[in-house]
Amino acid sequence: MRDTKEVLHCPACNAEMKKVLISHKNVWVDVCVNGCHGIFLDNKELQFIDEKFEDMDDITEELTDKPSVVIADDSVERICPVCKAVMNRASASRKFGVKIDTCYSCGGVFLDGGELVKLRNEYESQAQQKEEFDKFMNLKYGNEIDDEINKVKNKTFRELLKWAIDGKEF
Ligand SMILES: [Zn+2]
Ligand SMILES: [Zn+2]
Repeated sequence: MRDTKEVLHCPACNAEMKKVLISHKNVWVDVCVNGCHGIFLDNKELQFIDEKFEDMDDITEELTDKPSVVIADDSVERICPVCKAVMNRASASRKFGVKIDTCYSCGGVFLDGGELVKLRNEYESQAQQKEEFDKFMNLKYGNEIDDEINKVKNKTFRELLKWAIDGKEF
């Protein structure tokens, strides 16, 4: 997905979104600054800001002192603001119940207000992500971890996130 120039409307609350430059990565993301604080971005862009150490000040600054409109009903299907396809929802974090809406058509990703922060804060490091995940898998499958599961276990969190975004549960 290329960065869009036209103003997008938030897929959750329909407010006009603002283009915010993540200056250190030189990418633009659309932020619902006057509505629900949701963020719409390319799923390649998500990897630039999904970890704690990565700078998201550009986004935080935009949202400071702006009240967030709470979205009561997140069970409604969301429509991609770029290509108008129905977005698919997948879990990206079991721990905090973060759901990500993804557009399979253009690759766009929508995070509800606050979800990026939750996602970033979930684990201190990749090593911890892996450890937590191993624990979860062992608990769930015991010693009967088959090849398929082992493949999953060897993925990094980022790969798992991508996996979840692509519509597979883990
Ligand atoms: Zn919104
Ligand atoms: Zn789309």
